[in-house]
Amino acid sequence: MAVMRGRQFFQNPGPTNIPDRVLRAMDRPAMDFMSAEFRAITAECAEGLRRVFKTEHPILGYASSGHGAWEATLVNLFSPGDRLLVLESGYFSLNWGKLAEELGFVAETLPADWRAGIDPAAVETRLREDRAHEIKAVLLVHNETSTGVANRCAEIRRAIDRAGHPALYLVDVISSLGSFDFRMDEWQVDAVVGGSQKGLMLPIGMAFTAVSAKALKASEAAKTPRIYWDWRRYLTGREQTSWPGTAPVHMYYGLQEALRLILEEGLDQVFARHHRLGEATRRAVRVWRQNNGPEIFASDPRVESDSITAVLLPEGQDAEAVRRIALQRFNVSLGGGLGTLNGRVFRIGHMGDLNEPMLLGALAAVEMALGLAGVPHGKGGVDAAMEYLAAN
Ligand code: PLP
Repeated sequence: MAVMRGRQFFQNPGPTNIPDRVLRAMDRPAMDFMSAEFRAITAECAEGLRRVFKTEHPILGYASSGHGAWEATLVNLFSPGDRLLVLESGYFSLNWGKLAEELGFVAETLPADWRAGIDPAAVETRLREDRAHEIKAVLLVHNETSTGVANRCAEIRRAIDRAGHPALYLVDVISSLGSFDFRMDEWQVDAVVGGSQKGLMLPIGMAFTAVSAKALKASEAAKTPRIYWDWRRYLTGREQTSWPGTAPVHMYYGLQEALRLILEEGLDQVFARHHRLGEATRRAVRVWRQNNGPEIFASDPRVESDSITAVLLPEGQDAEAVRRIALQRFNVSLGGGLGTLNGRVFRIGHMGDLNEPMLLGALAAVEMALGLAGVPHGKGGVDAAMEYLAAN
């Protein structure tokens, strides 16, 4: 391996760049997690998280990756044999459904065109057919990290309401939270799954479930065994602290600082920055599309994600070769295609601690890598991104 100088440009869609201020905040000794000092940190974090989730409901944390929060929502809410409607949008929605099946629930998948995202009308139709209300919940991945498609969460809420169906609405916001708008209370989401390592700019190791009053009521009747994930252990206050075990104190140090960064910038400004960076990326890819080059995987402008762009290569071209060249020649790390998209797409993450020159550097490396890999493409994608960023 050649010696690499300078910083790596890390454009993976999770984990993401960790700001120096967060790293410094975590670089300190442990603390008694039952002390008043630590409680003050958790209280500040709880308030900050409520602003980011846009909720007044409880937000419960776990020392786990997102998979833990996926599992926590399911085991707290359902009993064996309960039917769940999984809205298929890509690799992550299918995996949440697979996890549900393995836990003993019936995961019915509502298929969709992965490039267009979930059609709210199809959700309404399926729920109207379910006159006996056998479907206990609708499961949505807000932002499909595998495809760069941002599903229309609010419209799907309205589709559930139009069908007059009482199903719980469960939404995974792992790669949208803190990157673009999500409103738990306004959109009447019953359980939200979040993670630390994307828009929140933290290391992997903390996941969240936010829980509506309707979900809490459902959890009282749920018969699936659960211990670490059990919302009751948190909310009845019978435990030694408000955390179901030793609290991850260093993650809290980081979370406190990350939330301060987000709130200092302002949530709307954070979203505007993500939109600008996302749009600049898309402008570049649209130029690369010329000469039968690669294209944006999302096929409908309404669902283009502001946190990650998946780039689909022309038939016969290898996305992994582009990724390899970007990393080995230019020290730019991109996301690979997941599941059936492996080799077909590479993914440019543009979420978290990122600014214009970082993105432009990465886009320049991608444009060079396309050329070196022999992928036909239009020249001048980076110029189009620069022009857009200068004007906006
Ligand atoms: N859901 C989405 C949308 C994700 O992007 C990921 C991971 O990237 C997961 C769930 C799984 O989370 P984790 O890998 O943190 O367990």
